[in-house]
Amino acid sequence: MEAGLLSIRDDVFRRNPGEVEFHQAVTEVFESLELVTQKHPHYAEAAILQRICEPERQIIFRVPWVNDAGEIQINRGFRVEFNSALGPFKGGLRFHPSVYLGIVKFLGFEQIFKNALTGMPIGGGKGGSDFDPRGKSDGEVMRFCQSFMTELYRHIGEYTDVPAGDIGVGGREIGYLFGQYKRITNRYESGVLTGKGIGWGGSLVRPEATGYGTVLFAQEMLKTRGQTFEGQRVIVSGAGNVAINAIEKAQSFGATVLTASDSSGYIVDEAGIDVELLRQIKEVERGRVADYAQRRGSSVSYVDGGSVWDVDGAVALPCATQNELDEDAAIRLVKNGLVAVAEGANMPSTSGAVAVFQDAGVLFGPGKAANAGGVATSALEMQQNASRDAWSFDYTEKRLTEIMVGIHDRCAATAEEYGQPGNYVVGANISGFVQVADAMLAQGLI
Ligand code: GLU
Repeated sequence: MEAGLLSIRDDVFRRNPGEVEFHQAVTEVFESLELVTQKHPHYAEAAILQRICEPERQIIFRVPWVNDAGEIQINRGFRVEFNSALGPFKGGLRFHPSVYLGIVKFLGFEQIFKNALTGMPIGGGKGGSDFDPRGKSDGEVMRFCQSFMTELYRHIGEYTDVPAGDIGVGGREIGYLFGQYKRITNRYESGVLTGKGIGWGGSLVRPEATGYGTVLFAQEMLKTRGQTFEGQRVIVSGAGNVAINAIEKAQSFGATVLTASDSSGYIVDEAGIDVELLRQIKEVERGRVADYAQRRGSSVSYVDGGSVWDVDGAVALPCATQNELDEDAAIRLVKNGLVAVAEGANMPSTSGAVAVFQDAGVLFGPGKAANAGGVATSALEMQQNASRDAWSFDYTEKRLTEIMVGIHDRCAATAEEYGQPGNYVVGANISGFVQVADAMLAQGLI
């Protein structure tokens, strides 16, 4: 990294001590930006980078609630409103015990560029809590969500900040959050949250969009090498909303998806994952992948602990969480015939792993491009809410497909323009950055 960028980055590190995931996300973007700052010195003159790394607003709040045993519990809530140059802050809420400010900031920072890449009018933000939904009753989750919204409501709005789901926040949680927002404000403001239920303002395809979009992005990458998903062995990590829908879409394109995983272990199904069974276990019963192995029979093995990246395939779709795929795993996958990686999760590959993929000429779609279908469909949900309309599944999926092809092509064209053909990391970072930076310049010192 060139000296000027390095000193700005080190300053970000100093001002945000201990936030390692945020540091990682900033470094990764800065590494791509050398090419831009050389070409366009006016960004440096306007201190765009320093401004972009400082969130517009950060909110940290107490979330008290009562568990089923009648005991008082205290969690911490966060909302980081990172950048509103392109539209209202937009990004999910993550409920997971690992959540702290550094995680929310890394996610919010990524979201700025991801949202810009979609071409939709949405700024970047993220939030969440260290609340662990695992093992909690419906009533506990509802009381937690109500308490969380009792503080959050004053900061959000359809023209201000529009949260959605992320890890640990799905349709059930969005329902409880929306209900409490409506009750406090006395407004049926559909556009304040996305990921709502069908029938009360939600969009068809939103639940599937992140996973579908990741596969659509991978398909576009494969096309550049004259390949398709047909007949490919695909490795997926995770067993949440993103993973399940990625599995479904990849198999509909003729691939065999061998794996899924959760925090306890992973399954290898040589016959290809039975996506309906996995959906039933994870989404309806809220069970574990170990249950899948028990129910499915002889084609499946379950590995307790360990890493799904020990299994070989031509395409890897990491759909679990940040830094799940490290350098050693990347080296092994490359040695055993890996062709493409598309990140369904946010920053699932460590920086060492990304370097291995790129050095080996593996097609690599970074999360901020490959998984942007989720937030893009959230923007389509906002569009439907604003016009009090509800689109068909086919029409919405067609829009999603156009958006993913558009993101792919924009990343590829930008990488080419800056002399790095095939480098989707550089393409995504530069294309997203330039759009946000130009809007910030036009809007004055904000
Ligand atoms: N949490 C998702 C993401 O990482 C979706 C955010 C949204 O729909 O606002 O992009």
